Amino acid sequence: MTDGTLRCPECGITSPESTTELRPGDICPDCRRGYLETTEAALRCPECGITSSESTRDLRPGDICPDCHRGYLELDE
Ligand SMILES: [Zn+2]
Ligand SMILES: [Zn+2]
Repeated sequence: MTDGTLRCPECGITSPESTTELRPGDICPDCRRGYLETTEAALRCPECGITSSESTRDLRPGDICPDCHRGYLELDE
């Protein structure tokens, strides 16, 4: 079973899978305000339809699309 990347909804950091000591629900080690949650789904732009890969992991849902700059990224589940 592979867990998704952990993400902090407050500061937006994403932790690589190597940080196995962190679990969903843990306090964010960076900002200590948010609680980590898993993000397994890719991000998709409803305007142009691009889907972000894991290489664009600094993007978050609600960010403006880096490609068309018209749509806002949402989770593609
Ligand atoms: Zn944080
Ligand atoms: Zn777009």
